[in-house]
Amino acid sequence: MKIVITGGAGFIGSNLVRALTEQPGISRLRVVDNLSTGDKANLAGLDVEFFEGDVQDAALLDRAFRGADAVVHLAALPSVPRSLRDPLASHHANATGTLQVLEAARHAGGPHVIAASSSSVYGANPHLPKHEDLTAAPMSPYAVTKLTTEAYLSAYHHSFDLPVLPFRFFNVYGPGQRADHAYAAVIPKWISATLAGRPVTIHGDGTQTRDFTYVGTVCDVLTDALLRRVVDPRPVNLAFGTRTSLLNLIREIESATGRFIDREYRAPRTGDVRHSQADSARLRSLFPTVTPLPIQEGIATSVCWAQCDRLPLARHC
Ligand code: NAD
Repeated sequence: MKIVITGGAGFIGSNLVRALTEQPGISRLRVVDNLSTGDKANLAGLDVEFFEGDVQDAALLDRAFRGADAVVHLAALPSVPRSLRDPLASHHANATGTLQVLEAARHAGGPHVIAASSSSVYGANPHLPKHEDLTAAPMSPYAVTKLTTEAYLSAYHHSFDLPVLPFRFFNVYGPGQRADHAYAAVIPKWISATLAGRPVTIHGDGTQTRDFTYVGTVCDVLTDALLRRVVDPRPVNLAFGTRTSLLNLIREIESATGRFIDREYRAPRTGDVRHSQADSARLRSLFPTVTPLPIQEGIATSVCWAQCDRLPLARHC
């Protein structure tokens, strides 16, 4: 099986590349990445063909997709705050980028296309848990680009018979997630602050909740979807319906590091939703053999990885 991973030098992408190299039956892996947020070092020592460039480059995609059986499209500017600062850049990378990927897939003979959407598409819809059939209500340009991604996948499935599968990722965390840039996610940022003895900043009162999924679990689902060629043009939530408050997350990091964390409270951020929890029924029925790693273990592994000072990624540190 020949698989292309766009955004494969990023956090989720490089974990997936590593997971797939351990799978029998995968004969060749290709990565397309412009290294805007990713890092080639994440793929060090792995047997992959690297195509450096943008997913908006049709000629590059034509070369990378030649003979491919499947494409996992993860390349995107994955940040709500960044999309608020520069909506057009997010649109180009995420929406136009997805359209280019689908065009290249169509011209390459129709490989299986799995793509990353996001729970942010639920946005202002207050209903919990988030079932895939709820009305989408994007609150940021980023969320619009992800809803557009899903709509394009569905359109290419119905118009060109392309075998597709869009996933709505919730909050993914784990080894390989960067803490050192302006748009870093909460878990790596807080682990890094704790290990450095700095306080953590909480926007709001900390009782807001998120449905965190360990990156190894996400890779298990994606691998199963690839190997069994699961096709469905309707989006599938990729989270298991467990809600963790930010205050509880701090307690987990305290317990994994053995350190007390000072909290600094700030005003809530524009575009942040208060609660997020997936309805996981569709995911569990499509992928009955995948079980999620409990948050305690995932946080412990993430702390261990952060302490190892970026040794090669590992499912279990
Ligand atoms: P990441 O930033 O670590 O990875 C994204 C990768 O895409 C990077 O390697 C980056 O260099 C590459 N990239 C960005 N724009 C590109 C372009 N125009 N052309 C080629 N490569 C490009 O982010 P991640 O957390 O690994 O996210 C992967 C996917 O999952 C994204 O589509 C993101 O929107 C989605 N997602 C992630 C989360 C999460 O919690 N991490 C949640 C919801 C959705």
